[in-house]
Amino acid sequence: MMIPRHSVGMKYSDYWPYIASRFAPWIYRSQDISAVTASLMPKATTLGTPTGRHALWYFLDLKDYPLGSEVLISAYNYYVVVRLVVQAGLVPVFVDIESDTLCMDPNDLAKKITPNSKLIITTHMFGNPADMPAICELANQNNIDIFEDCAHAVGSYIGETHMGQFGSGALFSFGVAKIVNCFGGGMLALTDNNDKAYQPPRHGAGFRHSMTDTFARVLLTTIYHPKIYKMTMLPLVKWGNALSRRGKHWLRNLISPSKNDGAWFFEPDKRAEFKPFMVSMLSRQLSRIEENVSKRRRNVSKMKSELVHHPEIQLLNEDKHGHSNGSYFGVYCESKQQLSEYLLAHNVDNNPQEFFDCSALAQFSEFKADCPNAQYASQHLIRLPSQPTLEAHQLNTIIRLLKGFSTDHARK
Ligand SMILES: *Cc1c(COP(=O)(O)O)cnc(C)c1O
Repeated sequence: MMIPRHSVGMKYSDYWPYIASRFAPWIYRSQDISAVTASLMPKATTLGTPTGRHALWYFLDLKDYPLGSEVLISAYNYYVVVRLVVQAGLVPVFVDIESDTLCMDPNDLAKKITPNSKLIITTHMFGNPADMPAICELANQNNIDIFEDCAHAVGSYIGETHMGQFGSGALFSFGVAKIVNCFGGGMLALTDNNDKAYQPPRHGAGFRHSMTDTFARVLLTTIYHPKIYKMTMLPLVKWGNALSRRGKHWLRNLISPSKNDGAWFFEPDKRAEFKPFMVSMLSRQLSRIEENVSKRRRNVSKMKSELVHHPEIQLLNEDKHGHSNGSYFGVYCESKQQLSEYLLAHNVDNNPQEFFDCSALAQFSEFKADCPNAQYASQHLIRLPSQPTLEAHQLNTIIRLLKGFSTDHARK
């Protein structure tokens, strides 16, 4: 038996828009993404983008901040987002996170605001809502824009308000590892009425490259299917880890999209353009998002309730500021590398390095800052499976292994 680290819980019928668009691309030509997202985000106009990161790129294009303006950004982050800010000629100012939500800490934010601060990029990390009331208040007082990174946050709310409507803009990602998978693609949400007429520049790889780029994501999605995973991804993950222990990291870097690649930079034309069939995929998955989220939340709360008394494992407070979608399930463990390998040896895949403390990465050494909570997360946070396709006996296996590991370690 094998438990993948992730699975979107797609249905075979979700492949249909992709397949149909291969044969009859005109079917989907008139799809309107804003109409699909209207019930979720009534305050926002939405635009399909080639990837989630493109949405931030377009937002920065729209706002056109003076070069050298400061952008306040969560230190525990996907390095790609920070790199985009640097590439746009802006200065990232790292803000520490709250340990229990993994999101930007408003207290640290308040200390880092200067007259040159133009934008706050706040990430709803792992689907956990950031403290938006506090962040919005600081932004208003200091006349700073807010951009929300909602790559993990489809189905997360504060009160009745879906994430992505608290600032001027937001990015969403529909990549294969995210909570909604459209075989790639992303979305820019804009909430200021003055911005709603914005037309982003058109980017995208040429026709052939674009076709293979999307097809690669169809394959990757298929590989992540629980039944196929065991024969495809799992051996690769195990082999990659074995190589990694001998100092060769190339395979693990290839598999893990959130690797830290200091040489990476954003090339807007390198990825397939947003395709009309993706709107239809989005619509299908949004119609099931509540069910998807409630299964994830049920899985997370079951595991958490069994783990409260195991001091080796520390839990997060996902719902501290709102209603988390449970898209990623993270726990802290002092000896996370051992835990990760122990789980993998028992066929439970996991990710011991989902993201990094970007304030300490060599590639951002110019902007170095001291963010102890982000550093702790980078060193000790491990992501466990929580996907809706998990069955009760698989949940029990994970719980039993975590408890076993915990007891073993307590004894040593
Ligand atoms: C995936 C991700 C993004 C960017 O999404 P892409 O579609 O891969 O460009 C941004 N932020 C976070 C936190 C992510 O996990």
